[in-house]
Amino acid sequence: MNDRLHPVTAEPDILPQWRDTPIGDLLRYHNLGAPHRAYARAELLIGMCMDNRKSMRIPDNFAFILRTAGAQLGRVEFKVSFAIAVGGVRAVAVFGHDDCGMIHLSDRREQFILGLIDVGWTRADAETHFDTNAPKFEITDPLHSTLAEVQRLRSRFPTLPIAPLFYSVKDGLLYQIAE
Ligand SMILES: [Zn+2]
Repeated sequence: MNDRLHPVTAEPDILPQWRDTPIGDLLRYHNLGAPHRAYARAELLIGMCMDNRKSMRIPDNFAFILRTAGAQLGRVEFKVSFAIAVGGVRAVAVFGHDDCGMIHLSDRREQFILGLIDVGWTRADAETHFDTNAPKFEITDPLHSTLAEVQRLRSRFPTLPIAPLFYSVKDGLLYQIAE
């Protein structure tokens, strides 16, 4: 495992900056199996990849979850600001993950185009669609892209705690990314 990833297998593993925030609670629920508390409203916004291999062990009502390719929230920013301004969340957790489909996306151009031709697209339309959009979503390294996304969100929402995390598809656990 990458040495920039801090595992959470017991309470003291939670980094001090997250301990008293809903991010600490997320790590307690998901990794440590903490008993679920009752929530009247959401406290946390989670930004994560749309990948199908991930599910969260958290209580009902605890979090808004926005899922987008590669956990890049720039294209759904209004939903982020809605969760903060109206939904009242007071912390954000963003996590990338291993084996993400957005890594080296350009290597899969032909597969993508053939997949759309299969459901009725013309080759020209499929090529244009890929070439216009793929550069906005492609990532090379999930740790790097998660940290960059967290920096971007911090510049937009400077008073909120915003944590870069990593979801391991291999063990289904969350890790803290060292900054
Ligand atoms: Zn992904």
